[in-house]
Amino acid sequence: ERLNNNFQFLDVGREDPEKVRVSKRKKDFAEIYKPFEDDSAQDQAHRCLECGNPYCEWKCPVHNYIPNWLKLISEGNIMGAADLCHETNTLPEVCGRVCPQDRLCEGACTLNDGFGAVTIGSIEKYIADTAFALGWRPDLSNVVMTDKRVAVIGAGPAGLGCADILIRNGVKPVVFDRYPEIGGLLTFGIPEFKLEKNVMALRREIFEGMGMEFRLDTEIGKDIAFADILEEFDAVFMGMGTYNFMKGGFAGEDLPGVYDALPYLVSNVNRRLGFEKNNADFIDLKGKRVVVLGGGDTAMDCNRTAIRQGAKTVHCAYRRDQANMPGSRREVANAKEEGVKFLFNRQPVAIIGEDRVEGVKVVKTQLGEPDENGRRRPVVVPGSEEIIPADAVLIAFGFRPSPAEWFDEHKISVDDSGRVVAPEKQQYIFQTSNPKIFSGGDMVRGSDLVVTAIWEGRQAAEGILDYLEL
Ligand code: FAD
Ligand code: SF4
Repeated sequence: ERLNNNFQFLDVGREDPEKVRVSKRKKDFAEIYKPFEDDSAQDQAHRCLECGNPYCEWKCPVHNYIPNWLKLISEGNIMGAADLCHETNTLPEVCGRVCPQDRLCEGACTLNDGFGAVTIGSIEKYIADTAFALGWRPDLSNVVMTDKRVAVIGAGPAGLGCADILIRNGVKPVVFDRYPEIGGLLTFGIPEFKLEKNVMALRREIFEGMGMEFRLDTEIGKDIAFADILEEFDAVFMGMGTYNFMKGGFAGEDLPGVYDALPYLVSNVNRRLGFEKNNADFIDLKGKRVVVLGGGDTAMDCNRTAIRQGAKTVHCAYRRDQANMPGSRREVANAKEEGVKFLFNRQPVAIIGEDRVEGVKVVKTQLGEPDENGRRRPVVVPGSEEIIPADAVLIAFGFRPSPAEWFDEHKISVDDSGRVVAPEKQQYIFQTSNPKIFSGGDMVRGSDLVVTAIWEGRQAAEGILDYLEL
């Protein structure tokens, strides 16, 4: 009956997977969305109109064959859908969980006009999770291995995307990371309530089964010289991310009790995964009045981690209004539900306190003219200063590129803001100014998204294959 109904969307509304109730999810770090049941995934997938020119597919940065796998799911063909998902995406189970779908695939769905977009992200997650549980594994039986080996520096989504395409084309990737686990920010930045860590552990098993080699706890430039890597391998891919925390540039940022967002999140992950080297590294906000500064994904993750640690109150101050926040709308809504209080149109001007932080001085802002990115600039309202009392402040103003000191010696060019220059449109896609070295992800585009890092890693692998004449 379902298969004959092309107007399913008229009878069946958009339904997201159920969420764990707020009182429970505030107390633990488990993922908040429950999995789809087979029936609801099929019903939801069948809402797709199979548009002739699917905008969702164009808007998705890896150009997933969305209507095609939705059709397979509506027919109950999980294994076929998993094969198709992996043709374009290295980590569908991750993207299904953490992509800001409202700005990407689902934001472009034709059904947004009054009916509610197809739940593309949740179905992508359902396909991968269900297929893995049923024993699906990538089929590499047709791959003929060559004698080429490529070093991949960084086991984040860019490095993993690159390694995936290399191994499927017979090139052995050896992936180095300074952290003890693969995933980059997927493991050490993004909290478990968005992406549980067993997801990456299973993915590591799958990658190792495909023949990828991981050398972890190994920092290039410290434990192994970059020159040695360059010498040993036929080509190198750098997917090392951006790790310079942006500062506010106001008084009081160095007071005890003021923390950068990422070390805070990493300290929580390290404690929970048992990677903590020193007890004193753990930043515990239990019972504290916390103020988070910023409005992106990192700020939301700090807000919600502080809630789960048992903070007394969590306020999030952001200098624009809610409509102009850079983070995913879904995550802002989740943060609100969990008790985060938002202070929109507030710009911090100082952190105050004698021996440690006591509060944040903010001024009110109004939105003025649009800036070069089309987002309206905040303009300060004179005489609107106020102080938000705080025992701890988390600064989540984003990240700036962090070029390595060995770039110059190896003739790797960076642009004015420190991003590695590796253009997409050239003979060898994502090649740097050193022909043997390719790069992609946050270190090339500036901090962005998981799915764009995957895309660039995969594309760079195509560039490497061309460069190696394979
Ligand atoms: P990374 O993920 O940063 O990986 C780089 C890896 O390189 C790291 O593992 C690092 O240890 C390793 N490395 C660096 N230097 C060396 C060296 N010298 N030797 C060995 N290894 C090295 N994006 C989304 O799409 N959705 C979200 O919900 C989301 N939430 C986020 C939340 C937080 C808190 C943060 C910080 C980011 C979030 N992002 C999100 C952004 C996303 O995580 C990044 O854009 C993405 O991970 C970039 O991938 P990458 O592979 O370029 O770099
Ligand atoms: Fe949507 Fe991200 Fe999946 Fe693309 S990868 S279909 S943008 S959830």
